[in-house]
Amino acid sequence: MTVNFQHVLRPVCCHGCLAVLNTIQQNGLTEEYLRSKEQVESSLI
Ligand SMILES: [Zn+2]
Repeated sequence: MTVNFQHVLRPVCCHGCLAVLNTIQQNGLTEEYLRSKEQVESSLI
């Protein structure tokens, strides 16, 4: 299962993660999301 996020296909573990990423993009929260992910330094979405 993958989601088109920032024009890149990324793997997601479940429909929940897919929905979250879609919601983030639709609400223009992509930058905030990526910023928080940088702090975690996780390869997981
Ligand atoms: Zn998931």
